[in-house]
Amino acid sequence: MIEHNELFHKIYQGDRISPEEAPDLFSWDIIDLGKAGDMRRRLAYPKDQVGFIIDRIVNFTNICEAACAFCAFHARANVIQSYELTMDDILGKVEELIAAGGTQVMLQGGLHPDYTLDKYIHMVKTVKNRFPKIYLHSFSPSEIVHISRKNSLPIDDVVKALKEAGLDSVPGASDLLVDRIRAKVSPKKITVDEWREVIYSLYRNGMKSSATMTYGMGETREEKIEHLKIIRDVQDDTGILQAFIPWSFSPAGTRMDNILPATGMDYLKMVAIARIFLDNITYIQAGWLTEGLKLAQIALTMGANDMGGVLMEEVVVKATGIKTSTNDKELVHIIKNAGKIPVQRDSRYHELVSIHK
Ligand code: SF4
Repeated sequence: MIEHNELFHKIYQGDRISPEEAPDLFSWDIIDLGKAGDMRRRLAYPKDQVGFIIDRIVNFTNICEAACAFCAFHARANVIQSYELTMDDILGKVEELIAAGGTQVMLQGGLHPDYTLDKYIHMVKTVKNRFPKIYLHSFSPSEIVHISRKNSLPIDDVVKALKEAGLDSVPGASDLLVDRIRAKVSPKKITVDEWREVIYSLYRNGMKSSATMTYGMGETREEKIEHLKIIRDVQDDTGILQAFIPWSFSPAGTRMDNILPATGMDYLKMVAIARIFLDNITYIQAGWLTEGLKLAQIALTMGANDMGGVLMEEVVVKATGIKTSTNDKELVHIIKNAGKIPVQRDSRYHELVSIHK
């Protein structure tokens, strides 16, 4: 049983907790932490609904000049042969998504040495011209910075040009916002400051984003909280982060396969702590892709309140050997069985269909 100390009372009074207080939560009993996470979830989102979206990731190339040590997707990891999709390939995949009732596409690729702004604008315009109702939640802060470097353009100009072409929003793809870890695992990818710059640019351009967290790469508890603090501060300033999505690093197939994967307990603690610390983000997604559907279901009782997307044809995580896939029927079953009401939602977290039976 947790001691009813000052931190306990702050959490249950709904007060903001400090980065100095938060690391203690990792030592809490999992049941106590889960209850606290669920209590803070009810403060942020009192409904019993859990949303999901029918979406598809289209990874248009795995050629990437960053070649991060924690990634099994890029061609030089030698797990997947190098490839580039044609525009016809991309359109065919979007068509399949629409036939399955899908509403959102995530176009994401490696940092291809030859891709410049024109290439990305062409991709966005072609998809939007053919499928005007599809919501493009696409690219990433790393890709935006990559384009800005290739074209020698300010980040604001790149974001503005992509928005004018039809891009709706950009996933936060934050990895771990700790420069000590980034210098080891992804030295050629963006820095924490550059990540922040992209999010502020999206804000200035009236676009939404999200934040993610890849933990389990050798960081300390304090560094996990450092990541959450950056996200909380950015959200205080901008309010554009619609959701937070933590997932554990999957070492297989990467150059870091000597690291033991984070456990199920680590994941559930991370969800609950994120919910308690991030008092300004409404949706926390349960990461069924990396953690499995059954663990994601438990996360719904410890702070999470969204199941994310069905992610038709996800490739990046699958490159690490993870085989989990799902569909809307299975997500509905998982959500209902957790005692919640499943809701198919759109990209702006508006309800499309509420499934009571
Ligand atoms: S994580 Fe992204 S930037 Fe890093 S190697 Fe993989 S595709 Fe490239």
